[in-house]
Amino acid sequence: MAENSAIEWTHHTFNPWIGCTKVGPGCDNCYAADLSKARLGVKWGAGAERRHTAASTWKQPRAWNRKAQASGKRYRVFCASLADVFDNEVPAEWRAELFQLIRETPHLDWLLVTKRIGNAAKMAEAAGGWPDNIWLGATVVNQMEADRDVPKLLWTEGPKFRFLSIEPMQAPIDLTSIRAPREADEPDLDTDWRFDALDTGDYYFFDCGDGFTDGGDGPYRDHRIDWVIVGGESGPNARPMHPDWARSLRDQCSAACLRGDEAPVPFLFKQWGEWAPMDAAGIASDRPVSDRCGNVRDWMNRYVVADGDAWARRVRGHTFTGHGTDLVYRVGKKEAGRLLDGIQHDGYPGEVV
Ligand code: SF4
Repeated sequence: MAENSAIEWTHHTFNPWIGCTKVGPGCDNCYAADLSKARLGVKWGAGAERRHTAASTWKQPRAWNRKAQASGKRYRVFCASLADVFDNEVPAEWRAELFQLIRETPHLDWLLVTKRIGNAAKMAEAAGGWPDNIWLGATVVNQMEADRDVPKLLWTEGPKFRFLSIEPMQAPIDLTSIRAPREADEPDLDTDWRFDALDTGDYYFFDCGDGFTDGGDGPYRDHRIDWVIVGGESGPNARPMHPDWARSLRDQCSAACLRGDEAPVPFLFKQWGEWAPMDAAGIASDRPVSDRCGNVRDWMNRYVVADGDAWARRVRGHTFTGHGTDLVYRVGKKEAGRLLDGIQHDGYPGEVV
């Protein structure tokens, strides 16, 4: 899959600049911050200068573009694994330079993934408008972020595809019940109205917790979320992902075709991360496993073993409903793999190779 990238869903990774500021719980264990500070000497955070990458780095996409043209195969480029393209602290002219490069490499599909989706439309306009070969992705890790950012992504006009990167997943997310955007509300709508982001159309409904009681038309929308990527967290401080959270998104995507659209929403399960359930972790018994001290960790009907104690403390105050007993084991990213209930999910939007 990846040519010069270890990331499962891309062929290449390109960093136009390095540096960023943490903006939410998905950033807590940002590998880019640790790597950039430790190995590249780039400071992180508000007010820290972003570092523009070298001219030799900027030449690489043109070479990939030539190769793609010659082979007739489109390559996906993940843009900015060590930064955020829509970071407020990046000079606008750097973004204009990047967008020009994207325009001049039409045989590449550029995947821009951001935690600042609210900036994307106006910054793209300032950079000369959306090139035709951009897939725009928003990272969300819980329902609050999905309610806040999915409407912004869906109502951004211009990108070829709009997708979600739900990684590191931190809580259950229902994409079929996204809070209606306040700014787009009609006078008689309030923020309790919701819509299905995996379906096109303009139908809003009132969510009373166990279904909906009534519906009506919201603002017109002729696109839905085109692609969903899900993954758990890796690294020494990784927080476990409940298996049911990933299963639920898989099922929401596959059921999208039943709600009026033509096809399921492509779903890609990127990784379990550090923690995995019994089958993925290759553990034969469902008996709780003891940690080094012989203790079994029990947290809200779930058992988190070995190094899970720190995580259990961290999340004890949260309320999770609808998720039964489950076991996850700290086995490491490589061992955990990327099978969800024994199946590798590698969905992509459109015609991709
Ligand atoms: S937005 Fe991305 S690169 Fe920036 S701090 Fe957060 S996780 Fe790291």
